[in-house]
Amino acid sequence: MNKSVSLHTLGCKLNYSETSTISNQFRSRGFEVKDYGEVTDIFVLNTCSVTSNADRECRQIIRSVLRNNPETYIIVIGCYAQLQPEEIAQIEGVDIVLGAAEKFHLFEYVESFEKRDLSCIFRDSHEKIKNFDAAYSADSDSRTRAFLKIQDGCDYKCTFCTIPLARGGSRSLAFDGVIENAKKIIDAGYNEIILTGVNTGDYKYVSGKNINKFIDVLYELEKLNIQRIRISSIEPNLLNNEIIDLVASSEKFCNHFHIPLQSGDNNILKLMKRRYNREFYESLIYRLNEKIYEVGIGVDVITGFPGETEENFINTLEFLESLPISYLHVFTYSERKNTEAVSFSGRVNINIRRERTRRLRELSDEKTGKFYNKYRGTEQKVLFESATAEGTISGYTTNYIRVVCNSSEVQENTIIKVQLSDPIGTQPVPCRVKSFEPFLV
Ligand code: SF4
Repeated sequence: MNKSVSLHTLGCKLNYSETSTISNQFRSRGFEVKDYGEVTDIFVLNTCSVTSNADRECRQIIRSVLRNNPETYIIVIGCYAQLQPEEIAQIEGVDIVLGAAEKFHLFEYVESFEKRDLSCIFRDSHEKIKNFDAAYSADSDSRTRAFLKIQDGCDYKCTFCTIPLARGGSRSLAFDGVIENAKKIIDAGYNEIILTGVNTGDYKYVSGKNINKFIDVLYELEKLNIQRIRISSIEPNLLNNEIIDLVASSEKFCNHFHIPLQSGDNNILKLMKRRYNREFYESLIYRLNEKIYEVGIGVDVITGFPGETEENFINTLEFLESLPISYLHVFTYSERKNTEAVSFSGRVNINIRRERTRRLRELSDEKTGKFYNKYRGTEQKVLFESATAEGTISGYTTNYIRVVCNSSEVQENTIIKVQLSDPIGTQPVPCRVKSFEPFLV
């Protein structure tokens, strides 16, 4: 009988796309891929290093998997595995830990998937991570939106960040590979491609005299027979006018960006070694609002970075209040080994950090509520995803408003024109279907 495997992912969209690719490796070798939580012969945990309690989370998950089935062969991969392999190998029941360069080659490291007494670690240092492993994945069973990994690693040196240590330097998928994978996604029936990477806008692929940059990827993808392309996350210093003009003029690019800010205070931005100041960021946000119709903008921000005084925090809060943006992703700063910031003075009390996070999350809800309200009564195109057992179906507008309606009214994986009704806070906005004809390219 074929062996079975289940996989579980922590962290970002990049991790999800990579888990999906690893599960396909198992499938193509005849393994049965089951859902997380089912009893299987093998279990793969793809970890994240962003959460401060990665260690606890990892232990808890492994313990619960082993409780169900003590014979499961446990493989741990991902950013936390690259950063702290010994710590993971000491968790009881772990069989093998694979680093960033090794995770896509697990069949070269494991032959029989038989449990032994000792766990093994295969992990090269981050300086040696040079390979690019292509990946793409679905966001859900509905196969409506696919995450296409075009870039990995980062050459920036933000003082709080462990990603360059966990994933190595910036590198990109071959230009032809991007287009090839995009075509595979389209052929599989997806309606939206979300470009994914660690520092996606830093995409650069050199082949002989040819240098392809991020904008070249966008021009080429625009020619394909796809309904929607979402750029999603991009560093502010890389979001140039050429990209803005293309998105503004294209029917296919979504009018939505996720742009990390991290702090609205110039002194803190300097300490973080970010590559812009608040004036630059502010003018970018206004330019986007001016040039791109109904644009939706999400912002990452960190609270309690070392040295962040109440005044610095208020600067950030007031700055965010003033900007025309639609939501925030707020992270509470936590000390990470081997980063520059860990040795900075001015450590902020953890309760103050949490309180600042709470205030910014409150602001985020206000911003989202206002953004939803602004579009009340307007007509929008929504890509509907999976129907729920409760008889509802939801999806996103191009500018990232989550919308919900009765599942008897629309089919899964179709783009339908709707009229937005009255929003209730930050809940998905109810809508009325205006046209039952799905949009086709
Ligand atoms: S840009 Fe900065 S925060 Fe983002 S991955 Fe690179 S080093 Fe980390």
